[in-house]
Amino acid sequence: MSEDVDRLLRRGEEEPRIKDADLYETVEEVFDASTVLTILSLIRKRVLKRISGVISAGKEARVYLGYAPDGRPLAVKIYLTSSAEFRKGILKYIAGDPRFQGVKTSDTRALIYAWTRKEYRNLVRMREAGVKVPEPVAFLNNVLVMEFLGEEGKRYPLLEEAYKELEREELEIIYKQVLEELEKIVCKARLVHGDFSEFNIMVKPDLDIAIIDVSQAVDYSHPNARDFLERDVRNINRFFKNEANIDVLSDEEVLEGLF
Ligand code: ATP
Repeated sequence: MSEDVDRLLRRGEEEPRIKDADLYETVEEVFDASTVLTILSLIRKRVLKRISGVISAGKEARVYLGYAPDGRPLAVKIYLTSSAEFRKGILKYIAGDPRFQGVKTSDTRALIYAWTRKEYRNLVRMREAGVKVPEPVAFLNNVLVMEFLGEEGKRYPLLEEAYKELEREELEIIYKQVLEELEKIVCKARLVHGDFSEFNIMVKPDLDIAIIDVSQAVDYSHPNARDFLERDVRNINRFFKNEANIDVLSDEEVLEGLF
């Protein structure tokens, strides 16, 4: 940890609930000073008590296991503000989305903050529509806090990780649920996920599922919404047909059910 960050963390010392040991667990090279301040702010707001291990270290975001002051486990998704590639990648989801009006697309940090807020709002909207997504808890700058999906600090497996161990009947149950969630996302939340795949679906021990990674979801009125939706349907159908080896509806049949 750099001395600057160290000093910033120490500034909070007059606040008794921040323990250095807790914070130090979180510190890696990805934590720039402003991200550390954002985490401190969430701790001060009593959203978070501490952050512990990394759940996932992607190129654009890291997801950590955290804890609320009441001990409830949380997933803390931190977008890396340094990723120029990421900026390029998200532009196509942002152009045409009224929620991004006024955000300067040349300002990477502003864009990533808006992206974080968008993921939070998408979670709220899907949750209100009854979609099985993690409960959104809070967001600030590039940090999103949500319900942790897992047990005893261990996240549930992704469909991609779980499917090989599942029986045909179990996969059929999951496919049915996946189509139900897709319908709620489109028909009730009026959103298109945009990255709907076996990598963004979690499977609980009772075969209940949860949909994650909704940052790129766009409003149904987005000019590319229909293309994104067709791609989502193609991807998920391809997975169940070719990888899970179960009978699936045709892409057209799935799409028809959504209108
Ligand atoms: P990737 O680049 O790998 O697609 P991402 O940056 O888009 O990741 P997510 O897909 O939202 O981020 O999350 C990355 C991983 O973190 C997930 O694959 C999952 O393993 C874990 N994860 C995400 N959200 C939660 C959650 N609410 N509870 C538990 N684990 C989670």
